[in-house]
Amino acid sequence: MIAAGAGLGQTCWMTPYDDTNIFARILRGEIPCFKIHESAQVLSFMDIMPRAPGHCLVIPKAPARNLLDVSPEALQHVMEAARRIAIAAKTALKADGITLQQFSESAGGQEVFHLHVHILPRFEGQRLLSHPAPRGDMAVLAEQARAISAALAA
Ligand code: AMP
Repeated sequence: MIAAGAGLGQTCWMTPYDDTNIFARILRGEIPCFKIHESAQVLSFMDIMPRAPGHCLVIPKAPARNLLDVSPEALQHVMEAARRIAIAAKTALKADGITLQQFSESAGGQEVFHLHVHILPRFEGQRLLSHPAPRGDMAVLAEQARAISAALAA
C-alpha cells in the first residue's frame, strides 16, 4: 500500500499503480484503440463496450491509478480535455446532453486501474446500457472517433 493525497494535508492508503493495465498498454502502443485526440498530457479514445452511442474515455499519460492518487496537474489536463471532448461529442453525435463518470477502486466500480473519465453522450428518453455492455461495432466506433475528432478540430 502507498500513501496518496500528498500536498492536500490528507493521507489515503491505496494499492500502487500497476503498469500492466490495458490503458497503460494502449499508451505504450501495445494494443490499438479508436483514437480521438492526443496531446503531450492526455489521450482520448472510444470505449469498446459503449454504454451510450459515442461513449469515449479521456486518460492522462502520466501514471495514476484513479482520482485518489492523480496529481492536481494531471487531473487538470484530463478535465480540460474531458470538457473539450464532451462538447465535440455532443456536436458530433447530435446528443441532447452529456454524462461524465469516473470510478475509483473496485468498490467504486473501477475495472481498469489507470485513471479515466467516461464521456457519455445522452439522448432524451434513452437510458445508459448497464455494465458490461456488448462490444461495439468496430466500423461504428471508427466512424464516431473520426466524427468527434473532426468536431474537435472545427
Ligand atoms: P471502469 O474501470 O469501470 O471505469 O471502466 C473501464 C472501461 O474501459 C469500460 O467501460 C470498458 O468498456 C472499457 N474498456 C476496456 N478495455 C478497453 C479497450 N481495450 N479499449 C477501450 N475501452 C476499453
